[in-house]
Amino acid sequence: MDVRAYAVLEEKAPLTPWNFTRRDLGAGDVAIEIEFSGVCHSDIHTARSEWGDITFPCVPGHEIVGRVSGLGEGASKFQVGQRVGVGVYVDSCRTCKNCLSGMTNYCEEGFTGTYNTPERSGDGITQGGYATGIVVNEDYVVSVPESLDPAGAAPLLCAGITLYSPLKEFGAGPGVKVGIVGLGGLGHMGVKYAVAMGAEVTVFSHSESKREDALAMGAHHFVVTKDETVFKTHAKEFSLVINTVSAPLDLNPYLELLELDGTLVMVGIAPEPYAIKAFSMLPQRRRIAGSTIGPVSELQEMLDFSAEHNIVSDIEVINADYLNEAWDRVVESDVRYRFVIDASTI
Ligand code: NAP
Ligand code: ZN
Repeated sequence: MDVRAYAVLEEKAPLTPWNFTRRDLGAGDVAIEIEFSGVCHSDIHTARSEWGDITFPCVPGHEIVGRVSGLGEGASKFQVGQRVGVGVYVDSCRTCKNCLSGMTNYCEEGFTGTYNTPERSGDGITQGGYATGIVVNEDYVVSVPESLDPAGAAPLLCAGITLYSPLKEFGAGPGVKVGIVGLGGLGHMGVKYAVAMGAEVTVFSHSESKREDALAMGAHHFVVTKDETVFKTHAKEFSLVINTVSAPLDLNPYLELLELDGTLVMVGIAPEPYAIKAFSMLPQRRRIAGSTIGPVSELQEMLDFSAEHNIVSDIEVINADYLNEAWDRVVESDVRYRFVIDASTI
């Protein structure tokens, strides 16, 4: 499959148009004509080598929505023309205990990322969704309900599942106080899902200008973290706090927000290590947990939940030639609240 794409061709280079050929349709494969592709902060961390060296050229993008344009031999889960999505990974070992229990996002060998990851076949490096088409094995593709706006649904494939999964796992629901730290692509989806699950939601943000948006999304409270006294005011209030911040952050004040047995879930991935004081954790038997995206089955559940509750991302649809500016705006926390590429402009 010949596709047009936007790629980073070498270290520190901007995104530029780049054409390449996807693998031929193999057994169980689905060819997808991409309609929309979300811009995740992870794309920027990766392409700018903030998490380590990568392989160039790199076509980022792991929030993909499009229509099935072809089926490989034996592929039976989807039909040509159906609207589908692809998230953060496109393969896993399928044999470790986590894969066998369906938790493919926690594959013990590591899942095959949608971009910048060696194919398990040994055949090159995966290339992501800033492109006009992609070929993915059907076991790593989900159905996107037709009732969801396809552009607004694209960010659900990463930002959505990354918050939906820990909110469920750590018990967000009626009577539960949840704190969401950072109102960006991930954070704003966290607000929407936590509210839909019935929790009482507080946003912790370093941007006063996002207050009205947060409340319009359903958040019950909005706290600006520049004033450090807020951490004392809200001490021991929350059973669940989810950190979505992409930059280095002092986690100690956020731990103080947790009540007995409360959990701080880390989903934001700052490039530097965090420094945690034992005395921030001991007093209330507090916990820190990690979470990354979700299994394919939960991705489907989250999309169906989104259709039922009419949840999509708040987006700014962009033409592909705006991508470099969009990336800079994401880094400046100036995204309301996800950029989504109209793939027809690539
Ligand atoms: P984003 O849209 O840029 O949102 C991050 C938010 O963090 C910003 O909007 C801002 O919110 C806050 N922030 C940024 N810089 C800050 C600073 N210096 N101090 C305090 N707060 C700051 O990014 P995203 O796409 O949501 O991704 C967030 C992080 O999650 C990234 O590190 C990404 O790589 C990671 N991620 C993890 C997973 C996973 O599976 N665990 C999946 C996807 C992404 P306010 O303006 O409200 O403060
Ligand atoms: Zn992502």
